[in-house]
Amino acid sequence: MSITVSHISKSYGAIPAVKDVSFEIKEGEITGFLGPNGAGKSTCLQILMGLLKADLGTASILGLSVQSDMDTIKKQVGYLAEHNPLYPDMYVKEFLTFIGQIHQIPADRLKKRIAEVIELTGLSKEQAKKINELSKGYQQRVGIAQAILHDPKVLLLDEPTSGLDPNQMEEIRLLIQSLASHKTILFSSHILSEVEAICDRIIIINHGELKANCSLNEAQQHKGGLSAFFKEKTNTN
Ligand code: ADP
Repeated sequence: MSITVSHISKSYGAIPAVKDVSFEIKEGEITGFLGPNGAGKSTCLQILMGLLKADLGTASILGLSVQSDMDTIKKQVGYLAEHNPLYPDMYVKEFLTFIGQIHQIPADRLKKRIAEVIELTGLSKEQAKKINELSKGYQQRVGIAQAILHDPKVLLLDEPTSGLDPNQMEEIRLLIQSLASHKTILFSSHILSEVEAICDRIIIINHGELKANCSLNEAQQHKGGLSAFFKEKTNTN
């Protein structure tokens, strides 16, 4: 398994954010992590990235424990955080060089890899600009470029298209699809059309609880399609 989450729970003070969530993701799958705002998606992804500690449960990526093997995991995993925190005053290449240095990519290889990633993410025309001179869609590409710089096997993308206009959304969607070969991708979203366009599997959480874990095909077979399936699984009031 590429990603295994086993009985994870996490509260912020008295607020339970994730309740006894378990799922597994196979190598090479693109999985949409679906749920309304506040469902617990970011919390799960942050636990998988070792940024938050689960109160209960265990998780592993590529067989390595997020509790004890995070340094090794980070070499194999790329992460795009929600709101994509960038350094606005840095130039695109300067920022990618900085990220590459964090990953300890040797200078000669890094230069080549940055050129490759700029090409892959469609940033060629923008590469000499400062990050704060880029549109939101291009800033998102920079976020994806930093996530794939070290050629990770697994990508965790938190709301990669949030805040984008429909054209930019489509571009990022195509970019994610183009990255999909040979990678396992788990990305959170609340946009069903995007999930339908890209995913092999879907996982739905609501109020911190796992509500569905099935192939996209299965969800689409539901009467009313994915949108009815999603409504049914998230309509818990
Ligand atoms: P999602 O990514 O699905 O929108 P989150 O994981 O961000 O959901 O949030 C899950 C729940 O935890 C929500 O109720 C949210 O308000 C709460 N929460 C998230 N982060 C914090 C935090 N740092 N402190 C307190 N509560 C938080």
